[in-house]
Amino acid sequence: MKDDEKYQNLQESQLKEWEASCLRCGACCGTEDGDPCEYLMKLADKDEYYCQIYENRFGLHKTKNGKPFKCVPLRNILHKTWPGDSRCRYKA
Ligand code: SF4
Ligand code: SF4
Repeated sequence: MKDDEKYQNLQESQLKEWEASCLRCGACCGTEDGDPCEYLMKLADKDEYYCQIYENRFGLHKTKNGKPFKCVPLRNILHKTWPGDSRCRYKA
């Protein structure tokens, strides 16, 4: 395997590992402030959430009540606070 393929595989496995740490609590998408993102959905049989547009999530969106906001990579907001962030796996 070429070095660039190895590097790409490593990056992909690190990304999967990083994403697997998420508790899917949805707090970073507004579950705790009463007006979550319009694309946030709850799994029917679990206390977990998912994004309906995950692959294209970054950019300007609206909350369920119509308030505009920008979805950004989590690493860009880790230094900030949001309702429910105390249980975020990445802030521990
Ligand atoms: S678009 Fe962003 S804020 Fe909205 S549910 Fe998806 S990840 Fe969360
Ligand atoms: S607040 Fe943290 S643990 Fe919860 S869904 Fe967002 S990234 Fe995952």
